[in-house]
Amino acid sequence: MSRIGKTTPIGIDLGTTYSCVAAWFDQHNHVEILPNEQGNTITPSRVAFNNTELLVGEGAKNQITRNASNTVFDVKRMMGGRFSNVRLQKDIQTWPFTVIERSNDKPMIVLEHMGAIKEFSAEEISSLILKNLKEAAEAYLGTPVRDAVITVPAYFSDKQRQATKNAGILAGLNVIRLINEPTAAAVAYGLDKLADPRHPQQKNVFVFDLGGGTFDVSLLTISKEGVIRVIAVGGDTHLGGEDFDKAMVDHCVEEFKKKQKKDISKNARAMGRLKVACEKAKRDLSSTTRTSIEIDSLYEGTDFSLKFTRAKFEELNADFFKKCIEHAENCLRDGNMQKHNVDDVVLVGGSTRIPKVQQMLREFFDGKPLSKSIKADEAVAYGAAVLAANLSGDGNKAVKDLLLQDVTPLSLGTSVEFEKYMSVLIPRNTHIPAMKEEIYVTTLDNQKAITVDVYQGECGKVKDNILLDEFDLDGIPPAPAGEEKVKVCFSIDANGILDVNAELLSTGNKRSIVIAGSGNVSKDDIEKMLKKTDH
Ligand code: AMP
Repeated sequence: MSRIGKTTPIGIDLGTTYSCVAAWFDQHNHVEILPNEQGNTITPSRVAFNNTELLVGEGAKNQITRNASNTVFDVKRMMGGRFSNVRLQKDIQTWPFTVIERSNDKPMIVLEHMGAIKEFSAEEISSLILKNLKEAAEAYLGTPVRDAVITVPAYFSDKQRQATKNAGILAGLNVIRLINEPTAAAVAYGLDKLADPRHPQQKNVFVFDLGGGTFDVSLLTISKEGVIRVIAVGGDTHLGGEDFDKAMVDHCVEEFKKKQKKDISKNARAMGRLKVACEKAKRDLSSTTRTSIEIDSLYEGTDFSLKFTRAKFEELNADFFKKCIEHAENCLRDGNMQKHNVDDVVLVGGSTRIPKVQQMLREFFDGKPLSKSIKADEAVAYGAAVLAANLSGDGNKAVKDLLLQDVTPLSLGTSVEFEKYMSVLIPRNTHIPAMKEEIYVTTLDNQKAITVDVYQGECGKVKDNILLDEFDLDGIPPAPAGEEKVKVCFSIDANGILDVNAELLSTGNKRSIVIAGSGNVSKDDIEKMLKKTDH
C-alpha cells in the first residue's frame, strides 16, 4: 500500500565504503532497511564511468579490477577537505583514480566518461550515490522521496557537514537534518531498549562506531521518557577499515618485492585486485585465525600467493587499534564519566567485527560484555529513519516522543591579539542548537575595519585550527584603540552548521555569514553537474 500524495521521509547512512537507506513503515509499525536493485541492504559507496554508462553501487564495485582508474571510492574522505591536507595527500597516493587541485585548494576527481575527461568534486560523486539510494527507496516504497535525514561522523567539521548537505541537494533531496552517526546508532539502540519495561530512569551508553573510513565514539544518556542526550563525542574522520586494508596491501607489496624483485605499487589494476583480496582476507580473519591471499597473474604474468595470520593482521594494525582505545578514553574524560558508570557499550560499524578491537575494548571496560544487539551495518540508517519520521510527524508514540540533544564536536571561535590566538565562543561538546555572543574591541588607534575570522578546532593558536571563513566589518569611526566595540554572535543549528554575525555597537553596522563550506553549490552548479552526468 502506498500513501497517495505523501512522500516518505528516509534516513541515509552515507558511508565511506557502504551506504544504507531506511524508512519508517506505518503499516508495519517499525523501520525497514530498504534493499537496492540487487536486493541487498547495503550498497557500495562507489561510482564508475565507462565508455557507455555511469555505474553506481554494486555495478561500480563489480568492475573495479577492469576499470580501476575510473572507479571512485572513499570519496567521504575528501568531503569538505583541502587538497593540500597531508592525510588526503596520503590517500591520493593509494587511490587508482586521479585527484587534482582546483582553485581554493579544492580537490577534484578526474574521470573519463564516454571518451571525454571530466572533473568531479567529492560532493558531486556523493550526490550520485545519494541519488542511487533515493531511487532505490522510491522503487521499493512506491512513493516519491524528497525529505531525508543524512548521517555524518560526529567528528565531521562544519565544512564536511556543509559538503554533505550540498551533496543531498544535488541529489534532489531536501535534507531535513544531518545527524551524527553514533547518535543515530544510539537512537536505534535506545528505541529498541525503551520498549523494555525494566529500562532504568536513565542509562549511560557508550557507542563505539568503527566503519570503513571513519571512527566515532559517543557518550550518551537515554532516559525512560525517550530523551537521548549526547554528553561527549570524539573520534577520527580518517580511521577505519580502509586503513586496515591498506596496511595489508602495503605488506603484500613488500612481500612481492622481496620474492619477485618487482614493484607493483604503481600499477592501478594490480593494486585494485590486491585491495579487493586483502579486504576479503581481513573479513575472513575475523572468524578464522589464518587465511591465504591467492591472485593469478597479478603483475607481468606472475601469480601472488601469501599466507596471512590473524596475528600478522593485528601486528600490522596495532597502532590503529591503540588509537581507537585512546579516543574512547578521551571521550569518557571529556564527558566526566568513570568507566564503571557506563551501563552499555554498543558496537556499530563493520570494523567492530574484528576480534582484537572487541578484545581491547572489553579490556578497557574492565571485562564488560559488549552489546551487539543492533546490526552493525544497519543501525545508523535505522536511527536516521527514526529521526526522519520523528521530524515529519510520522511514527508511533515512541518515535514521536523521541527527543534528541546532540553536541558540537569541535570548538568554534575567532582570532584575537593580532589574529594569533583562538578565542572560543562555543566550546566542543556544547549542546546544539546553541548561540553565544562576545564583545571584542579594536586593537589599534583609528582602526577602520575589524576582521571576523571563524575557526574550528582545539588548538590555542589559530594557525593550527581550521579556518572556516572570514569577513571584514568596516566603517569604524576614528577612535583610540579599545574604544570601538564589536558584538560577535555565533549560532549553531541542529545540523551543526554555523551562522556568524557581527555588529559594530557604535553605528549598528552589521554583517553576517552562514559558513558555506568548501563546496557551496549554487543553482548553476547543480545544472552543470546534472549535464555532466547526463547520458
Ligand atoms: P561500515 O562503514 O560500517 O559499513 O563498515 C565497513 C567496513 O567494515 C569495511 O572496511 C569492511 O571491510 C569492514 N568489515 C565488514 N565486515 C567485516 C568483518 N567481518 N571483519 C572485519 N572488517 C569488516
